[in-house]
Amino acid sequence: MKKTVQRLLAGITALSLIFGGTMMMTQNQPLTYADATNSNWSGNAPKYIFLFIGDGMTYPQFTAASDYLGAVKSENKVVASENLAFMDFPVVGNATTFDSTSFCPDSASTATSISTGFKTLSGVINMDTSKTIAYETIAEKLKAQKGYKVGVVSSVPINHATPAAFYAHQASRNNYYEIGEELVKSDFDYFGGGDFLLPTGKDNNKESIYNVAKTNGYTIANTKEAVLGLTASNDKVIAINSTTVGGALPYEVDRKSGDLSLADFTRKGIDVLYNETGFFMMVEGGKIDWACHANDAVASIKDTIAFDDAVQEAVKFYNKHPKETLIIVTGDHETGGMTIGFAGTQYSTYLTQLTNQSMSYEAFDLKIADYRTKNTSFESVLKDIQKEFGLVTAANKDQTAYANMVMTDYELTQLEAAYKLSMISKNDRKLTEADKLLYGGYEPLSMAVTHLLNNKSGIGWTSYSHTGIPTAVFARGLGAELFSGSYDNTDLYVKMKSLTKVK
Ligand SMILES: [Zn+2]
Repeated sequence: MKKTVQRLLAGITALSLIFGGTMMMTQNQPLTYADATNSNWSGNAPKYIFLFIGDGMTYPQFTAASDYLGAVKSENKVVASENLAFMDFPVVGNATTFDSTSFCPDSASTATSISTGFKTLSGVINMDTSKTIAYETIAEKLKAQKGYKVGVVSSVPINHATPAAFYAHQASRNNYYEIGEELVKSDFDYFGGGDFLLPTGKDNNKESIYNVAKTNGYTIANTKEAVLGLTASNDKVIAINSTTVGGALPYEVDRKSGDLSLADFTRKGIDVLYNETGFFMMVEGGKIDWACHANDAVASIKDTIAFDDAVQEAVKFYNKHPKETLIIVTGDHETGGMTIGFAGTQYSTYLTQLTNQSMSYEAFDLKIADYRTKNTSFESVLKDIQKEFGLVTAANKDQTAYANMVMTDYELTQLEAAYKLSMISKNDRKLTEADKLLYGGYEPLSMAVTHLLNNKSGIGWTSYSHTGIPTAVFARGLGAELFSGSYDNTDLYVKMKSLTKVK
């Protein structure tokens, strides 16, 4: 405790200078909470640095994905998980995630810790807890001091909290337009994945951010052909997926074959950024978090696997440049209180049952909106639930290969109660305390269906928000050994700083 207080006091007296109307910290020592132990590097700096952040992804999410893959591969005949590629990296560490607001932090503060080494309040992007001092990020430093090219990729909107924490400095993560303005003034070389949220501002009265981007010298590639056509000769590119849902890439479980994936945007990033001086690329698997907020294990598992596919693009690059490349894979916090194991299934899991789910909760929400319009009967809806999620009634038990997919009377009652609520228009629903615990702010029938399928498969959830367990850190390549052991998320910045010798 004494050590922490001393660091806090020293941090307050650290040097700063005026930057863009706010104070920009230039002196990064001493760091609040961060510990420089195991962070001193005297070797060469890695030229090519990949930082992968699975939003809301830590032990439960990647373990669920690897257990699922193992169960499906063996058709549940043996208990063996199938590791994702990053789980086999030679160095593993563990990072605490609390922020200045909570042990259950948000993506703005945790990404700030990773990119700048400072703790701050939930919701704040790269500013101190008084929201007056702006912090310079590792990406900005690598660009300014070492001439590295910089890429920022995300499956969610490109001005969302995690990507923003590498180029923006805002008192609120909700300042989407202002974050977009910082993006187009960043001079970073490649942005890929999701679209801009609020491209003309909250009140729809600002100049289109796409025009501001073009004025600042950015090329916008927003068709599959344009994105796939990008090369190293394109500098300053914003590559936006042609089909987005709420500004994000579709969930992997909903992605149409042939549409671009997170791995495609990562590979394109490598094409655009590759140069002799070096590059830094942050890639976020942002919808793992969104899936876990909605307690949808299949959407989370499929997006975690898609995230691993993106990591594998970096591994291919590493294999060509092993002496100059570093890959770091981590999460920012846990989401949903996901776990493997449920009260109703005790010591058993039935993960192969999850293969019955054909769409995300989000896609099913659209079907529910249609049921509401057409006043579709519960019996008809049950047929769809059997088709899209594999849950069957006792009367149809011969129509499933999985004995545990037959709903009990109790479960059917739960499903019908959720159906009745979902058939009422959103504004007219009166949610009881019990309803709020059961469904969060989500579509009741979608939550009832995914909860039933998840629980009957042995996956449990405790929250619709973030939780406080640490994240895992996996590393491979030059300097990877610095990432072993147990430390705070601010140390991720300290380690990257030490490796690259930026000031
Ligand atoms: Zn979240």
